[in-house]
Amino acid sequence: MGDLGDVVYKPRNGHGLVLFPLPLQGHINSMLQLANILYSQGFSITVIHTEFNSPSLSKFPHFTFRSIPDGLSGEGHSSISDMGILTLLSALNVNCVEPFRMCLAETLQSNSDASKDRIACLISDSVWHFSQRIADELNIRRMELRTTSISSFSGFSALLSLHKRGYFPLQDMKLEEPPMELWPLRLKDLPILETENPEELYRLLESMVKELKGCSGLISNSFEELEPAKLNESGGMEVPVPVFSIGPFHKYFPASSSSLLKQDKSSLLWLDKQAPNSVLYVSFGSLASIDAAQFEEIASGLLESEQPFLWVVRPGLVHGLDLLPGRFMGAVSGRGLIVQWAPQQEVLAHPSVGGFWSHCGWNSTLESICEGVPMICMPCFGDQRVNARFISHIWRIGLQLEGKAQRGDIRNAIRRLMMSEEGEEIRGRMRNLKAKVDYCVKPEGSSYDALQSLTTHLLSF
Ligand code: UDP
Repeated sequence: MGDLGDVVYKPRNGHGLVLFPLPLQGHINSMLQLANILYSQGFSITVIHTEFNSPSLSKFPHFTFRSIPDGLSGEGHSSISDMGILTLLSALNVNCVEPFRMCLAETLQSNSDASKDRIACLISDSVWHFSQRIADELNIRRMELRTTSISSFSGFSALLSLHKRGYFPLQDMKLEEPPMELWPLRLKDLPILETENPEELYRLLESMVKELKGCSGLISNSFEELEPAKLNESGGMEVPVPVFSIGPFHKYFPASSSSLLKQDKSSLLWLDKQAPNSVLYVSFGSLASIDAAQFEEIASGLLESEQPFLWVVRPGLVHGLDLLPGRFMGAVSGRGLIVQWAPQQEVLAHPSVGGFWSHCGWNSTLESICEGVPMICMPCFGDQRVNARFISHIWRIGLQLEGKAQRGDIRNAIRRLMMSEEGEEIRGRMRNLKAKVDYCVKPEGSSYDALQSLTTHLLSF
């Protein structure tokens, strides 16, 4: 069947899978990477997707795509921050129930023909918390994809448990003094989402925990050397189903083609002109937003650091600021480059990039680890807070900026990472981790073995 890079495709095995990604950039990337991995194992792939943030189908001609209405039609990717992430997730989990049920039923029906691959399993994003119920109704096995770190499972579980014990609201507590069982997290590292309706978050998390119990296994985009399965048990989060850590998914294939925004490749030409390891890459992912005051501090900190930088300022990143201030743009010229969206994996792989200032989304974290680029962490919400704590205090492959950092803190953090002995030590630890991740997806590596087990598991349904 041919090969792509290091990936050798196995012949078709007569089994089909239905995949159902959550329509957010990080989640779409992970699910489509997983789709490619499982296709390479011989499964045929059908992807059920919402009209909202529909993936670009032409990039994946080897999959069957089926679109469902979501009640959000017409709204684009950049409208998410206006709507609020939690409101969006809740709306999707209501609006998509019936369309998904119909679409899955039709897919199962049309594949029951003897000439087609039998659908062995539904793999849905864990945030689609109604999908287990529908899989049960239609009598099909379901596995769950968790696109976040394993460490964040315990963060979410702690959040629920503290909520039940009446620990909230958080602002009334001493943030540096966590209950013992939370270690290494502090209260301020808990994966909270800013919302006017916190009950909505707990409802979502509780539904996810409930659904997990009924599924046939969990697929994790992580790897054993970074997050051993036992870490999860010691975090107090019991996962009652088999866990397959087969990540990092993007290590199996060349750079992702599931970007919802157009990637500005001119950033690579600019990087070609910079000295090795000199550039700080700055990106806060596809959802986070900052206010104009924070923008001012970040911009000033970058300029004061006197370090070259490549900064992704996507439309919608800065609340209430349509145009970047002219005086800043003038000061940047020669020192830095600002783009709306970058080819991030290629940027991180570029020899000129020596650091990544990130919001610590899980995909960004894994992409940085895979290229051995040390990090500055500025988590914004949710699991990013847990990831930042692990990056800075457990794996020690980055520095954390606390709270709303001022320009002086930012300047100092950049210099510490890019120019100091401490920065060199962090870089060394990141290089060691890169060596482990290079090994884990090769034959006999932990993720490679987990993928063989996952394939056997799916073929047994
Ligand atoms: N990304 C990109 N170009 C950019 C910034 C981000 O292609 O300029 C990609 C990045 O490679 C990653 C994804 O967008 O795969 C962001 O996912 P992550 O989990 O890091 O954060 P989220 O956007 O979900 O907060």
